[in-house]
Amino acid sequence: MTLVGPDHGMYTSKIRPQDQQVIDDLTQPPNWDYPQWRRVLIALATAGNGNFVPAHHRPETINLQVWETEAAALNRETLKDGLERATPILVDTEKKALIGGKRTVGTHGGVVFDKTPQPGKEQFQRCIGTIHTHPFDIATPMMGGSDYLAFLPDASQIAMMMAWGGFRVLVVKTSVTPNNISSDLLKRRLAAYEEELDIIDNENIGKKYIEYNKMICTEFGLVLYLGDEKQGGLVKRIEVTK
Ligand SMILES: [Zn+2]
Repeated sequence: MTLVGPDHGMYTSKIRPQDQQVIDDLTQPPNWDYPQWRRVLIALATAGNGNFVPAHHRPETINLQVWETEAAALNRETLKDGLERATPILVDTEKKALIGGKRTVGTHGGVVFDKTPQPGKEQFQRCIGTIHTHPFDIATPMMGGSDYLAFLPDASQIAMMMAWGGFRVLVVKTSVTPNNISSDLLKRRLAAYEEELDIIDNENIGKKYIEYNKMICTEFGLVLYLGDEKQGGLVKRIEVTK
């Protein structure tokens, strides 16, 4: 069985030593405020697609501040009509800035991101993260399979945030996350976990989704953070191997 393409392994590495040094230095502190989070994302995007947070430097807490403001705004709309909403976050490597992309409205069960760069800026802008909501009347307090399918195989994306009512979830890729994973392989892995947890059966669905997310984060080297709106954007790392 071939799990990956013929030309690359699960990891493709294209980083200049000086970029690696910047990232190693930047990611050392264990608690990141918002400017730190922004600097890290810009440095990773500048280093090129497929570069993520060094696993041994994953922070304990991150203050998502500006992302929280956007998540809360999207969530207010979702609470009104039950429809998922999403905002992509782009890095502009020329301006060294984070930019909120175009908001989209989905259905009660999903939403598609619009990752398009601003006209004329295609060369410099790429989507490095996304923020989206889940309707509060369905018990999906965590990321679902379609979220991981939109996130993991896309080497430009570094982080994914989700708001479900007052709850917040953040998933961050690290240097041990495969940056060349095929959607087909991922679909099979997700299906295996869904079957193991019997996720179709609605009983204890919230608990099952937490288990599901922990399993995926463990297998793919992702860091999982949880928070709630009262903390103003502060999210804390959750141990996924327990
Ligand atoms: Zn989702």
